[in-house]
Amino acid sequence: QTVLEVEGLSKTYENSMHVVHALKNVSFSLKKAEFAVIMGTSGSGKSTLLHILSALDKPTSGTIKLNGQPCHHIFREPEASRYRLKNVGFVFQAYNLLKDLSAEDNIAVPLVLQGEPEASIQARVDEVLRILGLSAFRRHRPVELSGGQQQRVAIGRAIIANPPILLADEPTGNLDYNTSKEILDVFIKMREERQQTILLVTHDPVVAASADRVLFFHDGEIRDEYHCRGKQDL
Ligand code: ADP
Ligand code: ADP
Repeated sequence: QTVLEVEGLSKTYENSMHVVHALKNVSFSLKKAEFAVIMGTSGSGKSTLLHILSALDKPTSGTIKLNGQPCHHIFREPEASRYRLKNVGFVFQAYNLLKDLSAEDNIAVPLVLQGEPEASIQARVDEVLRILGLSAFRRHRPVELSGGQQQRVAIGRAIIANPPILLADEPTGNLDYNTSKEILDVFIKMREERQQTILLVTHDPVVAASADRVLFFHDGEIRDEYHCRGKQDL
């Protein structure tokens, strides 16, 4: 089952001085529960792709389908915010938690914004806290949590509303080796236990080695692709 289908995606930035081809005819697709990683040098178009997939920017040409639905035309507010809330979980390098809210309240944010009833919010948050190993820290505010714990809360917030796709930009970029491994295990668990489709940008070879697939970006193109052994027929 194909979840994400990107076809012929291009993005050109123009100003009075010059033209930048940030993405050039990029095509790829992701199946349900596939864990893919994007690697590439600075300026190769990785952030541009994440921005477009998050409906924060408009492609110059090409199409994007999420669960078969075209979505490349969505980039204006308030439609774009509604789209993100429902369809895209996002994990940032710097966690981006709300500092006055507890771990459980941070995780609940997308459900509250969607107007979900209180009783079902609590049940869903409890389950996610359990999967993340954070049940004992539910009432802690971000300042009372380690970097790895904060990133686990951020992952909980990103997946609580069951978005078809989970995107992440350098999710282990602020973490030491052991904590990065711990966060990587959380992504793998989300894929195994919740069939979560994951696309993350990373420079971390440890993260890349655990993915099903690695896409190498160079100069706005996918220059190489690596399928991890035994995972081709996901
Ligand atoms: P990466 O995330 O791989 O470092 P980016 O997607 O940020 O790459 O950038 C790709 C190219 O597009 C770079 O040459 C960058 O300078 C250019 N670029 C990105 N955003 C803009 C923008 N808003 N205006 C002009 N050029 C941009
Ligand atoms: P950067 O300068 O590193 O691109 P941004 O704050 O613009 O920093 O965003 C970091 C990443 O987070 C981007 O790649 C973008 O796709 C994503 N992003 C930013 N805001 C949102 C949002 N509200 N929802 C989902 N993703 C977002």
